[in-house]
Amino acid sequence: MTLPSTAADARLAATVDQLATELEGRSPAEIVAAVATRLPRITLATSLGPEDAVLLHLVATENLPVDVFTLDTGFLFAQSYALWTRLEERYGLNIRAVKGTASATLTPGEPPPWVRDPDGCCAVRKVAPLRAELARHQAWITGIRRDQTPDRAAARVVEWDARFGLVKVNPLAAWTSDEVWSFLQLHDIPVNPLHAEGYSSIGCAPCTSPVKAGEDPRAGRWRGREKTECGLHVKDGRLTGAGG
Ligand code: SF4
Repeated sequence: MTLPSTAADARLAATVDQLATELEGRSPAEIVAAVATRLPRITLATSLGPEDAVLLHLVATENLPVDVFTLDTGFLFAQSYALWTRLEERYGLNIRAVKGTASATLTPGEPPPWVRDPDGCCAVRKVAPLRAELARHQAWITGIRRDQTPDRAAARVVEWDARFGLVKVNPLAAWTSDEVWSFLQLHDIPVNPLHAEGYSSIGCAPCTSPVKAGEDPRAGRWRGREKTECGLHVKDGRLTGAGG
């Protein structure tokens, strides 16, 4: 773990270690409740995916003081925008839209940005606005699970996020995908209908396709291109898996 350098940040690092030890093995509900009350300026960055829907439920049903936002690239599926509204109505809260400065208007006769320069497109529509948003917060809650990728296997429930310079909380670190879906069904939480059509990991519409049985859950993201990540989650300077 790369630790912060100032004295104040060193104290925060000690808090991170203490929380990570204390909260390991606790339920996601206990973890979310603990960090919501002990880490001021905490936010939930939801991608509107299954894991984030679990976290939103935990935050909303306990009325915890956690900000909630989602990155709106302007290129999400219509089903994702509809789910966004359904979740706000279900829980009676506002999921703030965070946008970059790049326009979502396409220029006739020119290749769209996800074809011309997908890394640049993600950089201005996802990474830059996320970085600006996280700079306003002390901690963020993510839906990272340890069994998603080898790099995530060592994720702690609370850790220092060196890439964005704040505390990262992973309440679902020890959960499996089956546990996530069981929770969603148990509480009748709305999910994206595209999951039932074979879309396992859902991002922007132009860059997401369904996956076949046996494929990696993220095989449908940027299919046919070398790109596999938008750059939202990295560890030790390397990309670690899902995000955006
Ligand atoms: Fe652009 Fe595709 Fe990245 Fe969305 S996922 S920001 S459309 S390159």
